[in-house]
Amino acid sequence: MRLILLGPPGAGKGTQAQRIVEKHGIPQLSTGDMLRAAVSAGTEVGKRAKAVMDAGKLVSDDIVIAIVSERIDAPDCSKGFILDGFPRTLVQADATESMLSAKGLDLSAVIEIKVDDVVLADRVAGRYTCANCGAGYHDTNLKPKVEGVCDKCGSTHFKRRPDDNAETVRTRMSAYYKETAPLLGYYYAKGKLHSVDGMAEIDTVTAEIDAILAGL
Ligand code: AMP
Repeated sequence: MRLILLGPPGAGKGTQAQRIVEKHGIPQLSTGDMLRAAVSAGTEVGKRAKAVMDAGKLVSDDIVIAIVSERIDAPDCSKGFILDGFPRTLVQADATESMLSAKGLDLSAVIEIKVDDVVLADRVAGRYTCANCGAGYHDTNLKPKVEGVCDKCGSTHFKRRPDDNAETVRTRMSAYYKETAPLLGYYYAKGKLHSVDGMAEIDTVTAEIDAILAGL
């Protein structure tokens, strides 16, 4: 199963991707996570991407396409994968199609998580992850069961993204509407687009996605 999750920052792509990983055993390929890892490791790609990411703008297509193309060749992607945060431009969408068809693969579905813009800034400002295992949490919507302790690994260390602040979120939303929203029409025309209501409870969104995946 090869899936793409589409939606603005704060829609819940990462949260839902983690649940699909748990249920279906296919990896989540988040270009944002891969780029943040490159920044932390101080690689050439990381050095080129850092300032662009801090500003909330999009990293160049050639960089992200190269990262994804290499990643989907890894053995853990043989049964499929979830693309989270990629493709984000029409150039990336065309590249995805070419790289999949060159490998004899096709896309199973694109799932759009629809949300009202007004909630996005709060959702993004409140989110954090476990510094050890990467599990995602939110100050009000998704707290750990025991305060300050990760449900998944028991770590007590958490982190917030430097680009999850009100100003950068505005730039990231503009990038979404300008560059990424056209992908909805692109995938609709290909008969691949499914939409879920991202304003519903997290478990309800998961159930809606499960129903789509069951019908593939
Ligand atoms: P995300 O974790 O998906 O919100 O991505 C964080 C940041 O990484 C974005 O604001 C961009 O600067 C960069 N980034 C992630 N994925 C892409 C992509 N597919 N194309 C361009 N830039 C990206």
